Amino acid sequence: MRRPLIAGNWKMNNNCAESAALASQLMAMLPADKEVDVAVAPPFTALAAVAAVLKDSPIAVAAQNVFWEESGAFTGEISAPLLKEIGCRYVIIGHSERRQYFGETDETVNKRLRAVLRASLIPIVCIGETLAEREAEKTLTVIGQQLREGLKGLSPEEMEQVVIAYEPVWAIGTGRTATPGQAQDVHRFVRDLIARIFSERIAEKTRILYGGSVKPDNVDQLMARDDIDGALVGGASLKADEFVRIVHFKT
Ligand code: PEP
Repeated sequence: MRRPLIAGNWKMNNNCAESAALASQLMAMLPADKEVDVAVAPPFTALAAVAAVLKDSPIAVAAQNVFWEESGAFTGEISAPLLKEIGCRYVIIGHSERRQYFGETDETVNKRLRAVLRASLIPIVCIGETLAEREAEKTLTVIGQQLREGLKGLSPEEMEQVVIAYEPVWAIGTGRTATPGQAQDVHRFVRDLIARIFSERIAEKTRILYGGSVKPDNVDQLMARDDIDGALVGGASLKADEFVRIVHFKT
């Protein structure tokens, strides 16, 4: 049985005070729930403040990116040990906005992933096709390549720590969600591929989140699908009541 994970990606929104206030609100509204893991990913500048607020709460803190070296002359970068030190538990890797605007590739995703695992943090690896790729019926080819390259060289033990987030690029921030059927088809493909690369056992254990305009009014239908194990939520995670309703999805 896979434990669902609902993660909020605040992107480049909320200063320190706003982030701490949103974290406090969530903490008050989300008492410990044995059934669902919850995480929030504030901007780097607010990570420490949010980690302090959420210290004794069941809500975990996630970073939105990481650099692959541990330390050194890499101006402007943040390493996995630095994230761990301030209380991060998860790290989002290869979000489509990073691939689109900052030159992220499957190769750099793989380097970041290994660094996150070395630091004993939990990676959330994002994959997803563009609208042009979907329309050209290349979705599964693209997803297959992102997975094979992104997960390259991982041991089975390392793979057991990895969370995958399927986020069709055309559904992110657009209000256009994949139908539960479209999402389930890709999630099934991802699980089957993980079974082929690693093993059936690991594939069955791997959490595969859906992301792309997840809202209170569509989360229940998405979460009702067999291979959808949670959500990576952008816009709706900025509003405490919407995010809390998503965490309390009903299947
Ligand atoms: C995201 O940023 O990962 C995301 C899914 O955003 P939104 O929910 O706003 O589409």
